Amino acid sequence: MAHAYLFIGPEGCGKLAMALEIARILNCTEASAIKSLQGCDCKSCDGIRRWQHPNLYPVFPLPRLDKLDKNKVPVAQSVLQDIIARKTEDIYTPLILADTGRILLDQIRDLRSKLSLTMDRPGVRVIIMHPAERLRDEPANAFLKLLEEPPDKCCLILTAESTRDLLPTIVSRCQAIKFAPLTREEIKEEIDNRWHKPAEIAETVACLSGGSFSQAISILQGDALDQLSESLEFLRAAVMGNAEKIAEIVDSWSNRVERMKTKEKMSYTFFWIKDAMIWKAFGEESASEHLSVSNQDNVIEKMAVRYSDKQLSSIWQALEETRRAIDDNCIIPLALTTLALKINRTLK
Ligand SMILES: [Zn+2]
Repeated sequence: MAHAYLFIGPEGCGKLAMALEIARILNCTEASAIKSLQGCDCKSCDGIRRWQHPNLYPVFPLPRLDKLDKNKVPVAQSVLQDIIARKTEDIYTPLILADTGRILLDQIRDLRSKLSLTMDRPGVRVIIMHPAERLRDEPANAFLKLLEEPPDKCCLILTAESTRDLLPTIVSRCQAIKFAPLTREEIKEEIDNRWHKPAEIAETVACLSGGSFSQAISILQGDALDQLSESLEFLRAAVMGNAEKIAEIVDSWSNRVERMKTKEKMSYTFFWIKDAMIWKAFGEESASEHLSVSNQDNVIEKMAVRYSDKQLSSIWQALEETRRAIDDNCIIPLALTTLALKINRTLK
């Protein structure tokens, strides 16, 4: 084993599940290696699965709290307990992080002081940091010291969607392992195993999930199909220049508190554009197996026939820009209205 790993891949493709599985196997007390690989139920394995094991150190982002806040520790503890409870129930449960959530200096200090103590039990101490993009600035530098001089019998596992937002010095000290998005078949199979949903629902959800099982869960819990038709209404209203309808949808999509929600709602618009582009590229015959959504009223074919590649790709670009602007703290209704104007100029 290397002393530090960086698991890179899209959210919901199994990075955290793999990290926890490694922690479990490294600490299993069952003598037979075969048994430990086949889902052992020894005390240690059980503790790891519940995230309650003295050799397991989960590091999740926490809300930044005022230094003077006397309730700081209890609040942070309860956020952490809540994350752990949800991840114990189902490790693929989407982690809804507040935009301000960060891995804090206090957490890294606490981790370093715990790891500096001698181990009083067998096994390997496993630190799981998820997601490492939330480790920045001073805490990142403090963590770097741990990577430079890792304690004995210790394995650090960081997860991230990409290395873009990580310190290069952190990336270079970890062994990188890439995770691919799950295939549509894998997601369909798991939806069927867990919930026995009708095949066409499993198919649609698998397509919309983009290879993320966490996304599949949130689609199943939410109202994905309604949002899909609302995003089509948004495109239509933008093309027709229907200001009243645009304002109505922009209002329903705008969520100042949880920007993730706005992003999720607008992201359905991507599917229509993507499918039209696939139709253009592969033609009607081969498009049907790639199409991700139920093709109401041949909308996708109509879009593919009416618009050029150039028009569709500039809409795609405008959508990407809007998504990034939402990440960068823009005024959400303004960004969405600007998007509608761009769609109108490009597609009318
Ligand atoms: Zn075991």
